[in-house]
Amino acid sequence: MPAAGSGQRFGPERPKQYTPLAGRTVIEWALHPFLADPRCAQLVVALAAGDEHFNRLSTTDDPRLQRVTGGAQRCDSVLAALESIAAADEEWVLVHDAARPCVTRAEIDALLDAAAADATGALLAQPLADTLKRGDAAGRVIDTPPREALWRRQTPQAFRRGPLRAARRAARAAQRTPTDEAQAMEWQGQPVRLVPGSATNLKITEAGDLALAAAVLAQRGVSS
Ligand code: C5P
Repeated sequence: MPAAGSGQRFGPERPKQYTPLAGRTVIEWALHPFLADPRCAQLVVALAAGDEHFNRLSTTDDPRLQRVTGGAQRCDSVLAALESIAAADEEWVLVHDAARPCVTRAEIDALLDAAAADATGALLAQPLADTLKRGDAAGRVIDTPPREALWRRQTPQAFRRGPLRAARRAARAAQRTPTDEAQAMEWQGQPVRLVPGSATNLKITEAGDLALAAAVLAQRGVSS
């Protein structure tokens, strides 16, 4: 779980993954389905150097949890976690952003089923529902690109540990910065399966996203 971002749109005192949400914090909700899953043998969280928040959380005493120091970019944080995982090369690794607090067990199951049936791996994603507009610097429409075949990528993304680490190391050696694990695999010529997910698996980016996430969690009847 990359959790080393310093995005501070929610206030100077803490990054967004530590923002309160429905009685916990965003990162605790993101960790929850994995900590609750007996198939999850190990959970590595990549934290910013000097992180003072994680160890204060109430759910961080699970013995499967391990901390590593993340890097300058998300992909550096993921690589740091991958390097420290004790799993064999053929074991499944799921990469999930600390800023996505609403993923469900059902979505994780669908992802794992699809990944197991695929040579490379899989990611949750959502077919684009909106019409797209391309705009110029003055804010005027240039054109309307076709949205067919376009998806919004989400996390978790699931790959076997060995090939994922090799793809990430290859990207680093080539001084390329993949935006996600699927892109690192794409660069290796390994097509990744898209698994239809849900709009409720949203990423917290702005303050308004917190209200949406709280509504999603409340509608499920979950409580802290
Ligand atoms: O900023 P954004 O929401 O795209 O970040 C996605 C995830 O990557 C977040 O969980 C964030 O904490 C993490 N991240 C990281 N290391 C960085 C930058 C972001 O682990 N250097």
